[in-house]
Amino acid sequence: MYDFIIIGSGPSGGTISKNLHDAGAKVLLVEAGKFLRKDTFPKTEADYSAQIFWGGGIEFDAEAKTAYLRARVMGGTSIVNQCLQDRFDDVALNDWKDRSGVDFMTVDAMAPYYERIEKKMTLHHFERKEFNRNAELFTAGCDKLGYKWKELRRGQTDCKTLEGNDCLLCLGGCHRDSKQSSLVTSIQVAEKNGMEIMAEFEVDKVEHFNDHVLVHGIKNKQKQTLKTKKVVLAGGSFGSNKIMFNSGFKDKLPALGKGFCQHPQFMLFGIFDEPVNSHKGAFQTVASHDPNFRQKGFKLENVFGPPISIAMLLNSSGKEHQRIMSKYSYMACIETAVRDQPEGGEITVKKGKLIVTKHLTDQDKKRRDAGIETIINIFNAAGAKEVVNSPYFFGLHLMGGCSIGTDPAKSVVNPDFQVHGLKNIYISDSSIFPSAPGINPALSIMAFSQKLSEGLLK
Ligand SMILES: Cc1cc2nc3c(=O)[nH]c(=O)nc-3n(C[C@H](O)[C@H](O)[C@H](O)COP(=O)(O)OP(=O)(O)OC[C@H]3O[C@@H](n4cnc5c(N)ncnc54)[C@H](O)[C@@H]3O)c2cc1C
Repeated sequence: MYDFIIIGSGPSGGTISKNLHDAGAKVLLVEAGKFLRKDTFPKTEADYSAQIFWGGGIEFDAEAKTAYLRARVMGGTSIVNQCLQDRFDDVALNDWKDRSGVDFMTVDAMAPYYERIEKKMTLHHFERKEFNRNAELFTAGCDKLGYKWKELRRGQTDCKTLEGNDCLLCLGGCHRDSKQSSLVTSIQVAEKNGMEIMAEFEVDKVEHFNDHVLVHGIKNKQKQTLKTKKVVLAGGSFGSNKIMFNSGFKDKLPALGKGFCQHPQFMLFGIFDEPVNSHKGAFQTVASHDPNFRQKGFKLENVFGPPISIAMLLNSSGKEHQRIMSKYSYMACIETAVRDQPEGGEITVKKGKLIVTKHLTDQDKKRRDAGIETIINIFNAAGAKEVVNSPYFFGLHLMGGCSIGTDPAKSVVNPDFQVHGLKNIYISDSSIFPSAPGINPALSIMAFSQKLSEGLLK
């Protein structure tokens, strides 16, 4: 029997499994996706979309209005993310403390856990010499309008963008082991030290007993059951919620599935007379840093995407679509991400199928409109000839559904990250978020997972 089975290998599962294994516990890390590495990640946009994302590239909400991206591969969504690493601020944590009643939700109380996580990865602060033209246009527009911006902090060691390497490729997995994914910082290290890892095992449900937990899943199309003293669900918001529903826990946990947030993201494209080549070099280096924007509930990042993704985001067809896509090299791009209200989202599972409902509340729409208007102003100030808006919004930060809190009627896990009433089941991944922080979540997911693993080892 294992001491711990960790289900899911993203920032949460990677952190917890390595910590517990390092301390001498008998750990098994299971992951639904394949075990790919820098030499085996697919090399084209179409191939990686199909092979390392749930839903074959993209999933949708129940009304097919919102698109979601999450990875299904060893290392989880940290394999495909941009690895921008930010701590949560007072605005985010005060709201969490109010909603959850959990007393360690403060900047000071969380600082030691952030520090311990930051020490495990190489963090790089971008400098101006690394900006591509997309970033230069963003900062020029902001400067003209008096908006504050900042260089981003990214987990990376050796991207060699100044020597001609294009980071856009690593949205399908980093071929240099430079991006500080949980594969690089935790899993491959623990693997070398003998941690047991099982890829391509999709957990269906867990059964809780007084002194153990059974984990039921499918491996090689065969049903298989594993036995462990304790289990940690680290499947991300969709994955962990689905396992909790499949396990029949909704009756005892009325808050399960409630409060789904996603930082709805809207991308706008400024088309310029001169080539911008947003796909070149370090493609995401700067973001807004204006206290007014934080107060208004949106943030801006300069960003871009590979051609299939950009083509899918446009609201045009035929010759007009062709005209805009022929300007791919002339496009700059800014996205706004909204700090959305948890009241607008819910996750359920019906007949084994994950169903996500998401609507923008009036406040979310106000925040979206303020973000979009600001982007249009920045593009115009930077000299764009045309601004193209995408009608779609999507979710890359999937959060909530198993929120943390002291009240079992309003939350799913207690302040020890233990599921209320189920003493051998723990969760500290993105599903425990009580609301949207409005800040990149991965570093905080790791910090909470650090806290959980230290608690388990006590
Ligand atoms: C394109 C993109 C860019 C992003 N950029 C950033 C960024 O720059 N900074 C940032 O902070 N965040 C970013 N994010 C978001 C961030 O990556 C996620 O919030 C984070 O990875 C979530 O961590 P997690 O451990 O909760 O879940 P995940 O990383 O999603 O890991 C969950 C893992 O569990 C597995 N799993 C799920 N269900 C099961 C099951 N039933 N059985 C077995 N395994 C299962 C999944 O396959 C997956 O591997 C980005 C996301 C995307 C899509």
